[in-house]
Amino acid sequence: MVTTVSRPPAGIALRGLEKRFGDVVAVHPLDLEIAPGEFVVFVGPSGCGKTTVLRMIAGLDDPSAGAVWIGGRAVEHVEPADRDVAMVFQSYALYPHMTVRENLAFGLRMRKHAAADIERRVSRAAGVLGLEALMERRPGQLSGGQKQRVAFGRAMVRDPQVFLFDEPLSNLDARLRADMRREIAELHARLGATMLYVTHDQVEAMTLGQRIAVMRDGRLQQYAPPLEIYRQPANLYVATFIGTPSINLVTGDIVAPAQAAGRAEPSPCLVAGRLSLPLASQQSASRRVTIGVRAENLRVVPPGDSDFTSVVHRVERLGNESLVHLDGPLDDPWIARAAADWAGRAGDAVGVRLDRQHTLWFDAGDGRRLE
Ligand code: ATP
Repeated sequence: MVTTVSRPPAGIALRGLEKRFGDVVAVHPLDLEIAPGEFVVFVGPSGCGKTTVLRMIAGLDDPSAGAVWIGGRAVEHVEPADRDVAMVFQSYALYPHMTVRENLAFGLRMRKHAAADIERRVSRAAGVLGLEALMERRPGQLSGGQKQRVAFGRAMVRDPQVFLFDEPLSNLDARLRADMRREIAELHARLGATMLYVTHDQVEAMTLGQRIAVMRDGRLQQYAPPLEIYRQPANLYVATFIGTPSINLVTGDIVAPAQAAGRAEPSPCLVAGRLSLPLASQQSASRRVTIGVRAENLRVVPPGDSDFTSVVHRVERLGNESLVHLDGPLDDPWIARAAADWAGRAGDAVGVRLDRQHTLWFDAGDGRRLE
């Protein structure tokens, strides 16, 4: 009979992990370390390979190359059931004919846990997840959020070394998603378990992840804590994927002082439409760059004392702030954050100032961020 052992959380290492389906490379060789007890979110658009990574860790897909290490052992030859990981799916995968209590206990019963142990684990999960009043109901009598909680509970009772979540909240409405996000974060804080979470939702990634792995077309773009991803994105792709409203971009040429003589610029500067931005001296000349400025790093000011002149198209009043839609340096729309009671209106001629410290520079060719 199996008795309870509360194991310490396990770290995970992915070494050259790769997956091909025929000609499709779902995951290009991936190297990644996840610390014991860490909450890591894989984020990216549909088809970027994030679910495949999770499935290889769980043992549901075999890697084409490379290895998964869990808790210091390579698990290549370890069956999914013996990997000590528990996966929670978007679909909940509850048994409709069983009560909540039976759903929670089922896996343990199959693994021949002692009755008292099952009871103890089920009660604990029910307590942590607030399911006590629902124990005799069947899934058909539960709301989406309650079903999702039962699905978490089924993972929890196993006391796994690693939790894997595959888009667990995507069936829920916005309000409930926000509630469940909080619950998952609390669950992680309480259990201290290693958790891997897959989502296409950048807000979920930012709010839940201690580190975020941003994926695109089967390739890891960046692996870093949320603020670093936001403030120092590795490339244009990450910069645009993360953040709402989307980062404002403009591409222009760096013009050397001689060429810029007509504009009386003493140092090289970036010229993009109406914007002319002097460079710090160490920045290299003669290349095409894209700059990115987040909405909160723009200031709408009276025309004149500004980096470029613009026209307001629309003001979105969100209650706590206003989003000012305006012409960017090349007329593509840009969005600036302003105070809730910002006095401007559509049609106003304004100036826009960029916060130099938070302006991001990218190589316009390959999209890499330039230091
Ligand atoms: P989603 O959010 O839509 O689930 P994802 O980022 O999780 O997307 P994966 O499901 O990992 O992406 O798929 C990655 C790529 O591998 C996709 O191009 C997909 O079509 C392909 N793929 C996944 N599973 C298979 C399979 N069993 N057979 C063939 N191709 C597959």
